[in-house]
Formats: sequence, structure tokens, C-alpha cells
Amino acid sequence: MKVTVIGSGYVGLVTGACLADVGNDVLCLDIDPAKIALLEAGGICIYEPGLDEIIKKNVAAGRLNFTTDVKRAVEFGTLQLIAVGTPPDEDGSADLQYVLGAARNIGKYMTDYKVVVDKSTVPVGTATKVEAVIRAELDRRSADIEFSVVSNPEFLKEGVAIEDFMRPDRIVIGSDDPNAIHIMRTLYAPFQRKHDRLLIMDSRSAELTKYAANAMLATRISFMNELALLSEKLGTDIELVRQGIGSDMRIGWHFLYPGCGYGGSCFPKDIQALLRTAAAVGGELKVLTAVEQANERQKSVLVDKVVARFGPDLTGLTFALWGLAFKPDTDDMREAPSRVIIAALLRLGAKVVAYDPAAIDEARRVFSHHDGQLSYAAHPMVALDDSDALIIATEWKEFRSPDFDAIKARLRNPVIFDGRNIFDLHDDGLKGIEYFGIGRASRA
Ligand code: NAD
Repeated sequence: MKVTVIGSGYVGLVTGACLADVGNDVLCLDIDPAKIALLEAGGICIYEPGLDEIIKKNVAAGRLNFTTDVKRAVEFGTLQLIAVGTPPDEDGSADLQYVLGAARNIGKYMTDYKVVVDKSTVPVGTATKVEAVIRAELDRRSADIEFSVVSNPEFLKEGVAIEDFMRPDRIVIGSDDPNAIHIMRTLYAPFQRKHDRLLIMDSRSAELTKYAANAMLATRISFMNELALLSEKLGTDIELVRQGIGSDMRIGWHFLYPGCGYGGSCFPKDIQALLRTAAAVGGELKVLTAVEQANERQKSVLVDKVVARFGPDLTGLTFALWGLAFKPDTDDMREAPSRVIIAALLRLGAKVVAYDPAAIDEARRVFSHHDGQLSYAAHPMVALDDSDALIIATEWKEFRSPDFDAIKARLRNPVIFDGRNIFDLHDDGLKGIEYFGIGRASRA
């Protein structure tokens, strides 16, 4: 099939690469010329494990191409997949300008039948808006061309995006058009060979499904974070409690990890957007309101622990920070807890030496105006030299089994604030280290 992917970010690139990998002809469009130039030169603008290889392979096979030429992109694919950003508007609702801009371009340049597929996360009713925008452009051109708009929210997770796309738990298709549904079935057939994973529903329910999924996952995290705070007060260990409840099949293990707050490009903005959607129809989502509030508070718990240990004036102190990305295996720092932690430490007068396997370039962009107080280390252990304590904000695998003796030798004070509970409280390596986790007793 001929597929155009509009927007070449995390979702667009993974979608385009995976669709090309199963034999489709894919053209990825972006309005950012620098992104496309880099891709055309064999580079890649994001860090996503495995993506580089798939892109290279399919570019070499001639099945995957990139362009900034909107007209060419619209003319190319029978399928037009919209994967542009839907950032929060000023009031928290989803800003649809990029989605509707893409729709406008489709209406402006299409010359034959198109299935317009919305993969971006969009509020209920957006498919109807996309359809209206395309129809208005066609009317303006006095063109009578058939098209169908399908809602097909994306559930991939950064860090394991290729695996998620290639082996999805489910594929949600929101449409009542049999022809479009047939085309979507054909598109996704290679990704569901074991059994049918397609869930067909109306477009509004499909749109809500994406928000509901993210809201449920965020709820689990905030619930555990609240229990972790309680656990600290009660002198219990949240990690034992987590194991105690996760082993209940009705509860399960996923998204039960307490930490220093969730971040990323999706949970915070999607929860805001769902709250706005509910408010617009006179609904109040009490649980979700609390989920968001709990998360905001959680992003500060590590700094609270630092202040409790070192006092409110951190002038003259340096902190090593391991982990900048909002989660492991990505360079994405959107809404990352590390941003809140760094900003607070700098505000309190501290210096920060940060290390992350993938996100240092992104951090340099985010914190460009803090060069004096904030610096970066090329190796996690180097970050410890002349630092007063270590703070862990992201659970990258490479942090899990460090040389504790080297940590003790390199830090001025052997103090660790572990925002992801990556160490076993009873690990002998922690002997002689003041250790502060989340929701568990600290140990000296
Ligand atoms: P992103 O910011 O990484 O990429 C969006 C891209 O779209 C950018 O490169 C931008 O330049 C481009 N763009 C904007 N307007 C355009 C236009 N009119 N034509 C062509 N290109 C245009 O965003 P993302 O993380 O890939 O997210 C895209 C959507 O998918 C969002 O709605 C997001 O909520 C949703 N989503 C994201 C994830 C994720 O893990 N990142 C997962 C599931 C769903």
C-alpha cells in the first residue's frame, strides 16, 4: 500500500518505519526541514532503540522516503496517517492546530480517494472536525473527491516503540465506513498474525479509549506514590507492599512502581486534556484531578528529602544527577521529573552535574540558560567526583548495579537519593551509604 505519514516525530517515524518494514511504500512528511534533512542524510532526530536500523534498512530498500513537500506527500498515499503533535493549549485542552493544519493540507491537495487516519491523541469529536476541514477545502476547490476519516489512536511506548508497533496488544479502529475498515484491516494484517487484535468501534469511543488508557495508567502510578508517602509515615516498605498487591492477578504488576513522579509527552498532557473534555460537558473527574495533583507533589519529593538532609540553603553543594529522560531508553525530557528537580536544586543555590545515556543533548537545549550551575558528565561515575550526594531520577538499566565502593570513594558524602527505588534496601553495597528511597525506610 502507499502510505503517507504526516509528522515525523516519535510516533510518525516509528509508524512509517514499521509500515515500510512489512512491505508498504511509505513517505514521511514533516514541516521541520532540519528533521527531514537529517533523515535524508541517514541521521535520526530521536533516540528510540532499534529505529535507526529499521529506517536504514527500508530507506536502502527504497520503501521509505522523507519529504517536506506537502503536495507530493498528499498525492502519494491512499492512506494519510496524521501523527503530528497535540500539545496542551493554554487551558490544558489539546491544541489541535497541527492536526487540523494537516487536514487542511490534505483537502487542499488531494486528487483521489483517501483514507485519513488520525493517529495523534485527540479529544472526542476530532474526527468530525478533521472531516469538516477537509470537506471545506474540497468545497473551496469545487472538488468532489471521496474520503474517509478513521480514528486510530497509537498506544506505543517510547523506549519499546518498535516492539509495541510490531506486536500490539490491540489496534483500535474508530470508523463506521466498511471500505475504510477493510483498508485498515489490510494495513494492520501483518502485525496481528497470531489472532485478530483489531477492535472496531465508533470514532468518538476510539478517541476516548486512548485518553482512558493513559488516565488509568497514570492513576495506578499516583495511587502507588500516595501509598509510598503513607508508607514512609508508617515505617512500612512500599516495595514489599507493591509485591504483595502486584501478585494479585486482578491487580497485576504493571505501572505499580512508586517513584518521583510520571512525566513524558503523553500522561501529563492527556490527563489535562481529558479533564478539560469532561469540564466542557459539565463533568468532573474527581479521581483524575487528584491523580494530577498527586503527581505534581511527587515530582518534588526528592528535593524535599535533599532539603531535609542538607538544609534549605544548598549554596556550595553539588549534586550528581543520574537520569534526565522521563523514563529509560528514550531521550525525551518532556515533563520529566528531572526538570523539576534540577530547577529546584539550582534555585536553592546548588550545582548539578548530570548524566544520562541518551538525553544530555536534549538537556542542554532545555537548560541552555543555566550553564554555570549545571554541567554534564560523559560517564555516571565522573558525575560523582566532587559531588556531595547522588540523586537518581530515571531507572536506566546501567544504574542498577553500580560499583558501590566507587560511589563511596568518589562522593564527598556517601548519600544517595533514589527516586526510582532501583536498589535493594538490603544490598550489602549500600553499607556505609546514607540511602533515601521512595516509600521505604532510609538507611545509614
Ligand atoms: P513529536 O512532537 O515527536 O512529533 C510531531 C511531528 O509533527 C514534529 O516533527 C512536527 O514538526 C510535525 N508536524 C507538526 N505539524 C505538521 C504538519 N502540518 N505537517 C507535517 N508535520 C507536522 O510528537 P509525538 O511524540 O510523535 O506525538 C504525536 C502524537 O501522537 C501526539 O498526539 C501524541 O500525544 C501521540 N502519541 C505519542 C506517543 C509517544 O510516546 N510519543 C505515544 C502515543 C501517542
